Amino acid sequence: DMNLVAGKNILVMGVANDRSIAWAIAQSLASHGARLVFTYESERVEERVRKLADTIPNSVILPCNVTSDEDIEKLAGALKEQFGVLHGIVHSIAFARTEELEGLFVNTSRGGFALAHDISAYSLVAVAQKLYPLMTEGGSIMTMTYLGAERAMKNYNVMGIAKAALEASVRYLANDLGQYNIRVNAISAGPIRTLAAKGIKDFNSILKTVEEKAPLRRTTETAEVGDTALFLPSIPRDYRRSDLCRRRVPHCRRLILQL
Ligand code: NAD
Repeated sequence: DMNLVAGKNILVMGVANDRSIAWAIAQSLASHGARLVFTYESERVEERVRKLADTIPNSVILPCNVTSDEDIEKLAGALKEQFGVLHGIVHSIAFARTEELEGLFVNTSRGGFALAHDISAYSLVAVAQKLYPLMTEGGSIMTMTYLGAERAMKNYNVMGIAKAALEASVRYLANDLGQYNIRVNAISAGPIRTLAAKGIKDFNSILKTVEEKAPLRRTTETAEVGDTALFLPSIPRDYRRSDLCRRRVPHCRRLILQL
């Protein structure tokens, strides 16, 4: 029952424009009655995010650059004040320098490696750390990953290593936070033409390969990721105790769904 997100307070991090995966997820959540809080990276994207948020009634926007602990702490304070309880977090954030998303992975710099991991993997830990105390009614934390975490893929390079760290972080966070009835999951989306994807060299050839080889012979649409994301915060509290569900989705708190 997707209406289980109705009235829930869900934080959506990572909207940059209307092509962002986070935006598609926000639309799915909003259409089922969730109350949304958007964060934006910097003043550079603030106006765009505000315009998008204005189309969703009762939504709020707050600043948060995930490289700043201070920003994350301020966010936690603002959420506590304005909402009290938080039910969900959508983490849809990644970054690597464009020069590290082409050519040979062996040439990755120390700084580029650290930056990609800080923004794309550690940020999930930092956000979970500061916000899980607000999830007093249980909750769902989800992040976005990619197949490049598991396989060496051309040009994905350091981002693949960061996604592997992100996926391992999902498992460790799920293990820590399960006792508070908080689930932590990742969705592995297929390649989608977004702002972040533009940084990956020869992205078109990745799309083309999917069009040739994927079972549906087409690429993933953001709306499909949005609808997939919807079921995660919709799982009722006693889901884990249901035999039927356990058989369908084993280890559901550490699920990595591949699209
Ligand atoms: P996007 O560019 O729309 O979103 C990336 C977001 O990260 C932007 O909103 C940007 O503002 C934010 N961000 C970057 N640095 C930040 C910082 N320091 N602080 C706060 N926010 C910061 O692109 P997208 O494709 O929607 O990416 C969202 C997520 O989906 C990423 O984790 C990406 O790796 C993942 N993903 C994308 C694809 C794809 O093909 N597009 C496939 C699988 C997974």
